[in-house]
Amino acid sequence: MQYSHSNRGIDVVWFKRDLRIRDHTPLANALSRGRQVLLLHIYEPTDLAHLTTSNRHLTFRWQAWTALCKEVRALNWPVQTAVLHAPALDVLKYLHEVSGIRALYSYQETGLAHTFIRDQAITRWVRINEIPWHEQRQQAIYRGLKHRKKWANDWHNTMRGGLTRASPGPNLERFEVPEWPPGWACVETPHVTHCNDPGGCGPFQKGGEREARRYLQTFFEGRVKGYRRQIGRPLESRKSCSRLSPYLAWGCLSMRQVYQTFQNADVPRAKMDLKAFGSRLRWQGHFIQKFESECRIEFESVNRGYADFPYHGTPESLAAWKEGKTGIPLVDACMRCVINTGYLNFRMRAMLVSFLTHHLDHPWQAGVEHLARCFLDFEPGIHFSQFQMQAGVTGINTIRIYNPVKQSMERDSEGLFIREWVPELAKMPIEYLHSPWTQPPMERLWSGLDLTYADPIVSVESAGRAAREKLWKFKKTNAVREEATRILRIHVAPSSLD
Ligand SMILES: Cc1cc2nc3c(=O)[nH]c(=O)nc-3n(C[C@H](O)[C@H](O)[C@H](O)COP(=O)(O)OP(=O)(O)OC[C@H]3O[C@@H](n4cnc5c(N)ncnc54)[C@H](O)[C@@H]3O)c2cc1C
Repeated sequence: MQYSHSNRGIDVVWFKRDLRIRDHTPLANALSRGRQVLLLHIYEPTDLAHLTTSNRHLTFRWQAWTALCKEVRALNWPVQTAVLHAPALDVLKYLHEVSGIRALYSYQETGLAHTFIRDQAITRWVRINEIPWHEQRQQAIYRGLKHRKKWANDWHNTMRGGLTRASPGPNLERFEVPEWPPGWACVETPHVTHCNDPGGCGPFQKGGEREARRYLQTFFEGRVKGYRRQIGRPLESRKSCSRLSPYLAWGCLSMRQVYQTFQNADVPRAKMDLKAFGSRLRWQGHFIQKFESECRIEFESVNRGYADFPYHGTPESLAAWKEGKTGIPLVDACMRCVINTGYLNFRMRAMLVSFLTHHLDHPWQAGVEHLARCFLDFEPGIHFSQFQMQAGVTGINTIRIYNPVKQSMERDSEGLFIREWVPELAKMPIEYLHSPWTQPPMERLWSGLDLTYADPIVSVESAGRAAREKLWKFKKTNAVREEATRILRIHVAPSSLD
């Protein structure tokens, strides 16, 4: 049976990666125009099965969603909320059948292929059923953008715009939520249905707007001091970077909220720190726009000239990288840290990818899902672009091959981070800590140290040299150069992103 009165029925606000009530335009519109408003969040089976999804993401979403519902109740808004486990299209079809949908409100998602295909199916269905879908553009991310001539301007204008405030309109009325089919209503955090969850003991950052505001506040109250100096260090960056990334990735904060707080921040003796932070805010939009404009990079390199780039990595070296057992202390410490806490600073993320693709000679595709699962802040737009940049397959960026021993000596000079995450090396004298294989074997034997730490899986020096030669040679091929010109024309990567 199809619900027949188009002026009746419910208005559905579908929350995806925008789990907040502040500065949320679809919510504000639905509340002001609607009468019976349902706030909906969906854990879809395709998402739970996807290899980029991990339990830490699902928990973060759950925390953010339950916090949102609690706040809505405290505000006494006459709306209903539901969190379901079912395919989104089935949910909408069911709702339309039992209650009638007057209008659907959501943000436009720059997501993975499976969410895009789903949205296309929903577009067809709402058209057939004459349901208006008010799909709001994400802040400064444009669908179908062909070049970046005006993009930076548009981004700044959007960020300076007024924050949207949701408040209940005069027509809102309470209503009964329909009874859901068996198995749809979520009463606790769902779990992934694949077998590749990284596990990890935590603690992980917690989801929700209040938590997000706490990080925002403490950052500008003082943590920002030293941002520039500490950003490259695996230990210190955990405090002096903002740690806002999961809140931005899952939408507990809008970028506009962060930008405006940054603009109004008055932190003595932190001018350069603030400047460095501010430029990174635009990078977030830059990369998401890049993914929006060229979403095939979920599967293939942005520069098609690298389609035949030869790789010779072994399954054993890939497994060692994923488990943090390569025998290179900083690489292993970083991997174990991100598995257990969900966070790693930019430089160490870049080094992990560089080591995988250059030293271990694997294509970026071999590790991209693993780190997506590990990063609590997994954001497809940033993740796939950054992975390819660090793998050296864009043809437009400087090729960077990080030497993990040099990074270790520079960024963790006292070895505190390594000792924390690689307990086998807890008692290793500092002169050997960054490269334990340099300790003379007899000294090692007599020292009474834990000898279980693996030998290095590759020679950092010679593997790095071989990768450099291979990459530079390939970068000069016609196919790579032609593609580089095309990429620059569409994405006009700002030089600061090199
Ligand atoms: C291989 C690789 C994969 C990455 N995957 C992700 C991802 O899935 N999600 C994600 O949010 N970031 C990703 N990054 C970018 C960056 O490492 C993180 O945004 C940053 O470390 C998050 O910490 P923070 O919030 O404390 O950052 P801050 O330094 O405090 O920066 C504030 C915000 O600016 C944005 N930002 C900062 N650096 C970058 C950057 N290099 N590129 C784009 N935006 C940036 C983020 O939204 C960040 O939260 C990746 C980087 C690499 C090298």
